[in-house]
Amino acid sequence: MMTAAKLPAACLIGWPAAHSRSPLIHHYWLRKLGIAGGYSIEAVPPEGFADFVRRLPAHGFVGANVTIPHKERALGLSHPDARARAVGAANTLWIEGNELRSTNTDVEGFINNLDACAAGWDSASEVLVLGAGGAARAVVFGLIERGIKRVHLANRTSERAQTLADQFGASVHPLAWEKVADVLPRAKLLVNTTALGMHGQPALDVEIDRLPLDAVVADLVYVPLETKLLAAAKARGLKTADGLGMLLHQAVRGFELWFGQRPLVTSELRALVEADLTKV
Ligand code: NAP
Repeated sequence: MMTAAKLPAACLIGWPAAHSRSPLIHHYWLRKLGIAGGYSIEAVPPEGFADFVRRLPAHGFVGANVTIPHKERALGLSHPDARARAVGAANTLWIEGNELRSTNTDVEGFINNLDACAAGWDSASEVLVLGAGGAARAVVFGLIERGIKRVHLANRTSERAQTLADQFGASVHPLAWEKVADVLPRAKLLVNTTALGMHGQPALDVEIDRLPLDAVVADLVYVPLETKLLAAAKARGLKTADGLGMLLHQAVRGFELWFGQRPLVTSELRALVEADLTKV
């Protein structure tokens, strides 16, 4: 009889082992594609992380997702691709030959979700990104990789926006937080990468009516599923892309790398994760 340990398995490494939707997503795809495999949550403290990832195969894993507080550390312990290097953090590890490789799938999660929700969004010549944390780095890198020429970047702490502009080059234009309203009429895409609007945080206050009528609004926050920002954008008839869509799309690549088949983000999967989110 085959034991669970011999099946291809991946895991999420974090500390502490927080509740995550990743097992729900990967188990759904394993079931749908008829793959005998596994996905577990592994609580690994910072002092044990390096040893754990170096010995991933010995622990029975073909790869892993990495979350707080290990994402930056994972970069230095692996051979990162251009996306992980640009973001400065890795969230997905896999073994290629004898090498531990890493990437950051938030980049394609964000872009592929936009493609799915608002095809043609990339004709935008100017976009406005709010926030300059880890998620903003993935978003800005994805926008530039896709060919967006002008990214206005506003952050409460202006130095962090300047740091991103210094790293990503001339397409990124730091913008004072108080000047956001001035750029809205030119922004064909507005992206919230701040924690504002998240359950327990203050709402994000943006004058949606100043955006062009063909603008797209994306919010990375997914608790609640429909933020006030997205509700206001929909009420104005604008196309939207939500944080749950990004979360689902970012999981695709890890699954493909570990289990050899590219899974689909279906409405059935979305409904499954939505039901789990509403338990919060
Ligand atoms: P982070 O690195 O901690 O950055 C947080 C950002 O939010 C910073 O720009 C921060 O500004 C801003 N912020 C926090 N409180 C604020 C306030 N009261 N007023 C104005 N700005 C405020 O976090 P992160 O990893 O980038 O994540 C940001 C959000 O994206 C979170 O809600 C996270 O759940 C979400 N996210 C979603 C996905 C997905 O798949 N949907 C993926 C990644 C992240 P300062 O620099 O001024 O502090």
